[in-house]
Amino acid sequence: MEKRIAIFPGSFDPITKGHENILLRTLPLFDEIIVAIGKNSSKQNYFSLEQREKWLKQVFKDEPKVRIETYTGLTIDFCKKMSAKYILRGLRTSADFEFEKAIAQNNKIMAPEIETIFILPVSELSAINSTIVRDIIRNGGNASPFVPAVIDLNV
Ligand code: ADP
Repeated sequence: MEKRIAIFPGSFDPITKGHENILLRTLPLFDEIIVAIGKNSSKQNYFSLEQREKWLKQVFKDEPKVRIETYTGLTIDFCKKMSAKYILRGLRTSADFEFEKAIAQNNKIMAPEIETIFILPVSELSAINSTIVRDIIRNGGNASPFVPAVIDLNV
């Protein structure tokens, strides 16, 4: 049978407990999940690509079905390159829904063979996002409750 491969694309700037939770909950559905850090030139990142990649590798080091990659260009093109038929996205808010719906429906026109799958956060992690984590760090607060335990933010 064909391997079921999913892409979990994002900036992961930095990875949070929300990302970790989405990935661990969907892992049983797939043979492989590729966490794909998008190198979007128009987006100013806080942590370097190398740092974000290193943290992701640390968090998922004991998960043989998880691979960490970086990519540029369209997510659907990266899916094709990786033979992935599924894109995973989290839906935290209604704003996420409107935004993600447009992208997923346009992706479906361009690449009908690829399905986008949406996952709701668990309620305890619903309010966590990387923007808030970065704001806490920038202002000298302790963001460790919001990121996976193995991550050392003091880099
Ligand atoms: P992007 O810049 O592509 O939104 P992010 O790294 O912010 O990248 O998020 C990657 C994915 O993880 C998105 O689909 C986002 O909705 C999801 N996500 C982020 N935080 C959470 C959370 N707390 N619960 C569920 N999903 C989340």
